[in-house]
Amino acid sequence: MMNNRQLADTFTLIANLLEIKGEIIYKTLAYRKASESLLGLGREASEFWKDGKLEEIPGVGKAIAEKIEELLSTNKLEFLEKLTKEVPAELAGWLQVPGLGPKKIALIWKTLNITSLSELETAAKNGQLRDLPGMGAKSETAILDGLASLARRSGRIPLGQAYPLAQEIVATLKGVKGVTTAEPAGSLRRMRSTVGDLDILVAAKDSSAVMDAFVNLKGVSRVLGRGETKASIEFSDGVRAQLWVHPPERFGTALQYATGSKDHNVKLRQIALDKGLSLSEHALTKVKGGGEILCATEEKVYETLGVQWVPPELREDRGEVEAAKANKLPKLIQVKDIKSNLHMHSTFSDGALSILDMANAAIKRGLKTIVFTDHSVGLGVANGLSMERHKEQAAEIKKVQKQVGDKILILHGTEVEIKADGSLDYPDVFLASLDLVVASLHSSLRQPREKITERLLKVVKNPHVDIIGHPTGRELMPEREGADLDMEVILQAAAESGVAVEINAHPSRLDLDDPFARRARELGVLISINTDAHSEGDYDMLHYGVAIARRAWLEPKHVINTWTQKKLLDWLKKRG
Ligand SMILES: [Zn+2]
Ligand SMILES: [Zn+2]
Repeated sequence: MMNNRQLADTFTLIANLLEIKGEIIYKTLAYRKASESLLGLGREASEFWKDGKLEEIPGVGKAIAEKIEELLSTNKLEFLEKLTKEVPAELAGWLQVPGLGPKKIALIWKTLNITSLSELETAAKNGQLRDLPGMGAKSETAILDGLASLARRSGRIPLGQAYPLAQEIVATLKGVKGVTTAEPAGSLRRMRSTVGDLDILVAAKDSSAVMDAFVNLKGVSRVLGRGETKASIEFSDGVRAQLWVHPPERFGTALQYATGSKDHNVKLRQIALDKGLSLSEHALTKVKGGGEILCATEEKVYETLGVQWVPPELREDRGEVEAAKANKLPKLIQVKDIKSNLHMHSTFSDGALSILDMANAAIKRGLKTIVFTDHSVGLGVANGLSMERHKEQAAEIKKVQKQVGDKILILHGTEVEIKADGSLDYPDVFLASLDLVVASLHSSLRQPREKITERLLKVVKNPHVDIIGHPTGRELMPEREGADLDMEVILQAAAESGVAVEINAHPSRLDLDDPFARRARELGVLISINTDAHSEGDYDMLHYGVAIARRAWLEPKHVINTWTQKKLLDWLKKRG
């Protein structure tokens, strides 16, 4: 049965093909909205379908619901099959070429009768595109450039790559004379686990100096465009960044607009209209009689509209606008609420530092409790520990605990391997002797859905397991798709057994991602945010995990790492 990702891809494909076919944008919006909604749902659409409640999915009306039902029950969609007879599905891939829109695609395809990207490249190289109506040598070169740039980048950029780059850009631009402030915007400011191009906003009276600094940033390979107040660049690794310069007194509306999401902003503009105001990136304008209200800060935008300021991580139109109106936004978790790190490694397995060095680094960062969860024997590549070597580790921890005194509590745990059959790498009696057990999937991730769900389910129900580490096993850097788990079944079982599920904060994982984490919160599942630190620097990745938690609407009370030492120890004792 199709999962949400596959359903979403299908609807995006439909929207793209309809655009190439020449349908008006309005007709494609419903498909795009449904696709976004499915990706953010956190529960499988098939669950809704079983309950006859498909139309309760946000953005899913009757027509889309019928299509989901057809896809779920037959794995096919007649509508799409007919559509691809008119517009070859391959053409949808052309939309990823920067500078190539649906109209040009239709023109090239119909005139030259080509459908693949390689045919497109050959046609451009042979000079076949320049003579088409409305094109020219310039657009032909632009398409070749676009194809080259597409080859360099692979879709969305992992947050862990985009965030540090954006921070560097912002720091540089803040140092330019005349710049009052600079901020990243877009999906990056909302801290999605993967982002599109980087959007940077600057407040400055005069734009030329900051434009110069932007196009001359380190690592820039091409300047794609430069105007009065907007510039666009590409870095040598294919990542693109846009800069907008706004007058300081209008920075608030500009930042609000550029942060998105589109759907959040649609709702906000409606609230403005209800108050007789029109909200744009430049100002709030009185609909009757004109007259602008300028907002230098984003806070003023929300305040003027009479709603709570919404943290960027929540701006996805998942109920936050309604909550802000009712003054009921959650008090989101922050990095400073985290008191413990319950999943980390030392040189006993594949970590870079000794127990003492990791403990000192944790003390420096104000942590009160850490748990060494080195890999188990089955993960040979990571130098997994035999039960014999655990004795050595226990002795070492005892020794270091004496050295550091009461500055931090050091516990002895394991990250135990979940084997292909769902059994664990150590016997239960041994697991019971450890302070804390993280159980994780690292291998045989491609098992069929039923099998791998059953495999993890066994572990969720094992009372000796305290935390399910990086539950889906997905990776972002380099990219690896997670296991095809039935997360609804897993999370419901976790709610029942009381095991915690992890938001692995390391930017190469960010697993669970926010849709599932939010569903976990709804079901009352305990969440644990851990850095999975293998080095000192990894501790500082915590904010990524906290950002995902915030996107999932989590408050301190939902996360076991905010607990006091006593509460944590009591919980561990009870779990056995
Ligand atoms: Zn792991
Ligand atoms: Zn680990």
